[in-house]
Amino acid sequence: MDRVTHPETRPWPLNYALPALLAVLLAPAITTAAERIDFPSVPVTVARVIDGDTFAIEALAGIATDEKHPNECRYRVRLIGVNTPESYQTGFEQAQKALAALLPEGMVVTLTRDLDDRDGNNPFRWLAYVELPGGKDVGAELLKEGWAVAWRYLPNCRNHVHYQELMAEAWTNQLGLFALGMNAVYVASKEDNHYHRPDCPSAGQISPVNLVVVYKAQDFVTAGKTACRLCLNEAEDIWD
Ligand SMILES: [Zn+2]
Repeated sequence: MDRVTHPETRPWPLNYALPALLAVLLAPAITTAAERIDFPSVPVTVARVIDGDTFAIEALAGIATDEKHPNECRYRVRLIGVNTPESYQTGFEQAQKALAALLPEGMVVTLTRDLDDRDGNNPFRWLAYVELPGGKDVGAELLKEGWAVAWRYLPNCRNHVHYQELMAEAWTNQLGLFALGMNAVYVASKEDNHYHRPDCPSAGQISPVNLVVVYKAQDFVTAGKTACRLCLNEAEDIWD
């Protein structure tokens, strides 16, 4: 969980980290480890998009159904490696529509796992890469359109560098969420050890061919870069 030290300067959605944490802590323990199961290797059918990165699938044989939606599997699918706005954040509806356009009801898709398909925060969410009938990756499509940001979820990081590149392109072209005013990214040059806020004078001097864009400062810290003293301070080195 991200620490919130300067809420007014925090990029989206870190202002909401505390409420999210409380929601997790206050949620009733509704399952035991024994009930947690892996997702099937067979294709699944889209039932309904929940938000920009989560959707419901049709009921699967031998797996519990949703209490309120008996035709749906109780387990929902959460895309790995991306994040989209929550319902109280700018861009939520647009991101939700973008996922619904990619995943219409009744579409048959394939789920692929990274290292761990189980969600530590929600036992009824499966973490998966989702492949469309033509082979395209749903997370990548959202990133290309700017409706998601690349988000590093340990240990599931197989596509993270590629996802960052797609997000950087959308950011450079100011698409999707970035067109709506979300500018909460950090930038750096491949040839320099410091990272910046996008509005830092030094950021403006980075050659486009060397530009790297990340959503979480810790991605730069992990890569050995340090915060620019002009536009950031040490507190900006955020860790999960
Ligand atoms: Zn700077």
